[in-house]
Amino acid sequence: MDCVFCGIIDGNIPSDKVYEDEEVLAFRDINPEAPVHILVVPKTHVNSCNCINEVNSYLISKIFEIIPVIAKKEGLTNGYRVITNVGEDGGQSVEHLHFHILGGKKLPVHFG
Ligand code: AMP
Ligand code: ZN
Repeated sequence: MDCVFCGIIDGNIPSDKVYEDEEVLAFRDINPEAPVHILVVPKTHVNSCNCINEVNSYLISKIFEIIPVIAKKEGLTNGYRVITNVGEDGGQSVEHLHFHILGGKKLPVHFG
């Protein structure tokens, strides 16, 4: 499978890691859209939100327990945004489930 995030998880592609445990990895986005732009991913390959089920949904609660820890460490005391894009219309460019953490400035509010 040709997945860039699996390559990062396997250590074959370099990344700027900010958090790691047995099941979750977080690293800085290569093309940041805010002063802090971090991607949080499960280490097992899951395509997107569309593939979350009763077997793997524990990864989502794990990720959402870790997000505030990362946000605090990054100094995002005034708030931040968490985004996950799904499929072509959602603007998903990497088909490995990931949650963007964006912060470090007042983010514009826009949908569509
Ligand atoms: P999305 O468009 O929601 O699928 O987000 C994919 C994100 O992955 C984009 O913000 C890219 O900048 C980021 N990205 C792609 N390749 C890498 C990489 N090798 N290291 C870090 N971030 C990456
Ligand atoms: Zn993958």
